[in-house]
Amino acid sequence: MEKNICSFREMIKEKRMIDSMLALLQWDLETQTPRGGYKLLSEMIGELSLKSYNLTTSEKFLKIIQKLKKGEDKLDEVIKKEIELLEEEISKIKVIPPEEYKAYSELTAKAQGIWEIAREKNDFESFAPVLEQIFNYNKKLIEYRGEKGDVYSTILNDYEKGMDAKKLDVFFKELKKEIVPLLKEIKEKDRNFSDKLNFKVGKIEQKKFSKEILKYIGFDLDRGVLSESAHPFTLTVDKNDVRLTTRYFEELPFSSIYSTIHEGGHGIYEQNIADDIKDTLLADGASMGIHESQSRFYENVIGRSREFWYGILNKSKSKYGMLENLTLDEIYKGVNEVSPSLIRVEADELTYSLHIMIRYEIEKGVLSGEYLIKDLPKIWNEKMKEYLGVIPKNDSEGILQDVHWSCGLIGYFPSYALGNVYSIQILRAMKKEINIEGALERGELKEIKRWLEEKIHRYGKLKTPKELMVSITGEELNPDYYIEYLKEKYRKIYD
Ligand SMILES: [Zn+2]
Repeated sequence: MEKNICSFREMIKEKRMIDSMLALLQWDLETQTPRGGYKLLSEMIGELSLKSYNLTTSEKFLKIIQKLKKGEDKLDEVIKKEIELLEEEISKIKVIPPEEYKAYSELTAKAQGIWEIAREKNDFESFAPVLEQIFNYNKKLIEYRGEKGDVYSTILNDYEKGMDAKKLDVFFKELKKEIVPLLKEIKEKDRNFSDKLNFKVGKIEQKKFSKEILKYIGFDLDRGVLSESAHPFTLTVDKNDVRLTTRYFEELPFSSIYSTIHEGGHGIYEQNIADDIKDTLLADGASMGIHESQSRFYENVIGRSREFWYGILNKSKSKYGMLENLTLDEIYKGVNEVSPSLIRVEADELTYSLHIMIRYEIEKGVLSGEYLIKDLPKIWNEKMKEYLGVIPKNDSEGILQDVHWSCGLIGYFPSYALGNVYSIQILRAMKKEINIEGALERGELKEIKRWLEEKIHRYGKLKTPKELMVSITGEELNPDYYIEYLKEKYRKIYD
């Protein structure tokens, strides 16, 4: 048994090494690679993905797993869970022909470069063929698995166990029913809070402040780094090497602050996975929905609270020129202004989920064959008009704004909506145990981080999202609290 465990650990180490190398290539692709380098880098990613595929589906690996399973009662819960996750992964990928697995990895790497240029030049047509390929691949890769049910639900279930299109339909319908009238009420008030926050702050100063904010919320910059990219993201090489990006707009200094806090929330999660599972397959977030719950928790629950800014102003007003002429009330109302806008990552909490709903409906429509890729810009704009009452001037601020589809992340967007819901359930539980407002006012965010680490972060993938939620809040995912939270918060802000 000992020998088998040893061989298993060696193979897991090799697998994780390849994944870390892939992560580094991905990091390079999105932050450093010049246009001329995209092609070669995509090929490298394809090659390395094939190596990972071959290792994961190898006879040798399968045999070790079989041997371990024979003595299952002697295994600890970590290995048992790793085997469970591994078998799931193997069953999903081994039905895909290796050359197609490689081609898809290469395609999604290449597509990111194509997307970036298309967005810059506002040229959807140049991105459309590759987007179509990605959607087709997603469909095909799922069909290889021969599972029952619709393709989109299978994809959604891959991101969040137990999730499907039916459940999300119900959720979004409810959300629409509650939020759209509230939005109308707010619009009728016709208030403008955010003008005060839109002034010019140079990139260097914003960068400095972003790093300061990261430290302030508890992200360890000795074990992580903040860089820049077209679209902010977090990437983990290892819990001691967590890489974040943000982006800076000189006229909108609060944009980078919130991108930074969001990615910081992901980063804090990754950095605080327990050391004893650090080199296992469990060293990752429980699910993408739970991951987004941590980023959205830091971004909104913490970062958009009055107490958070009270704490910051108390500590750093003299140090940071960009806050110098602002009052607490101006910041609080400004960062919570409800204003239907074009860009998801800059959306307020209330309209945010409507942005997700648009992407959800489009993914569903394309995968079912109802929507054609060439019509997506038009469909996008129509939905923006219907749900948010605004229409993009061009595709760069419309259908081309997000990086996700180019990376192959179809079905990822609902994770944000789930993250919002989870984050409010988590907030309710945390409130029962610690004085969040007090901690924020004192600028002591350690207490909050410690609670999240204790209840969520340290487990990595050891607990499922459902197990986590039940153990923390006593119940499974429940959207009611989120809707209540939004109503209460915004009724107060808008009297
Ligand atoms: Zn995120």
